[in-house]
Amino acid sequence: MVILFHRGANEADADALRAAMACRGLSSRTLRRRGQVALALEGAAAAPHAWPSSGELEAMSGVWRARASSVPYPLVSRELQPEPTLIEVRGVMVGGESLVLMAGPCAVEDEAQIFACAAAARANGATFLRGGAFKPRTSPHAFQGLGAAGLVLMRRAADAHGLRVVTEVVSPADVALVAGHADVLQVGARNMQNYALLAAVGAQARPVLLKRGLSATYEEWLLAAEYVVAAGNPQVMLCERGVRSFEPATRNLFDVAAVPMLRQLTHLPVLVDPSHATGRRALVAAAARAGVAAGADGVLVEIHPNPEAALSDGPQSLTFSEFRQMATQLARVAAAVDRPFAAEARDARTDA
Ligand code: PEP
Ligand code: MN
Repeated sequence: MVILFHRGANEADADALRAAMACRGLSSRTLRRRGQVALALEGAAAAPHAWPSSGELEAMSGVWRARASSVPYPLVSRELQPEPTLIEVRGVMVGGESLVLMAGPCAVEDEAQIFACAAAARANGATFLRGGAFKPRTSPHAFQGLGAAGLVLMRRAADAHGLRVVTEVVSPADVALVAGHADVLQVGARNMQNYALLAAVGAQARPVLLKRGLSATYEEWLLAAEYVVAAGNPQVMLCERGVRSFEPATRNLFDVAAVPMLRQLTHLPVLVDPSHATGRRALVAAAARAGVAAGADGVLVEIHPNPEAALSDGPQSLTFSEFRQMATQLARVAAAVDRPFAAEARDARTDA
């Protein structure tokens, strides 16, 4: 049983409830949602009569909602919160009516590259600049990113073009640094089950974009999100980026069904990343269109001024003209499923 308190409820309400439950032999664990206390009630199955009903709990002081949970991730499940979580990032809503486009290079390489990407992103309706400053590379010999210098360049490029920054954090020790420059912290596929990192991004205030692990089930992915929310940060967006399969022709297998499935299981926004999901430039736009048609709240895509020369993920990075074409197509698919681009993005596109 999970109990959520009203935002205005105080610790005394929670203490009173804890004490009342202790009298029945039930223990409670405090879960944190920022500005809102939540309790998980736990007790011996041998004493079912001790369990209070939802109605009984909801009549107690400060309680907003109480639900028995049939899933191990109550905080992110629809059972407890049927309405979608909306995440506002400096005036742009993620998870609302509008589709959100996030574009940029795989990795920040230099000033000219990131500024060119920011201009192309803005001109084609994106409201976020993506890009890695800290890169989790499979090989220790591959480009590892510019680190802190990359964060500074990215922030400057995004500010120059009125964009928000989404960038990856790979270590708990870097969370404060990355949060000092970024608007959204990305947790990458390779770190989806890095529980120390999940706790660290959960303990700070920036929204989190949580990629699906390389071979993670929906339940494992939602439990990773549950870690972040339980640590105090309810602003989590999920991003489907393909999973490992037996097919070598594509980098990953794009699981488009993840979008409607997660829509049922969780109230968190769901985005798609057609770049890592396919690994091939020629397939990216089609996968993006499929993701939007399936109901994704946003698309995270890799672009590069000269993909052939990219230091990472060149084969899956779109040229600016391919990106323009994709954005035009996405706007049409989005309109067909009643998900217009963000108003700010529409304005930018008509200006370009
Ligand atoms: C990325 O977005 O550049 C990235 C490394 O993604 P993923 O964690 O999905 O592989
Ligand atoms: Mn990449």
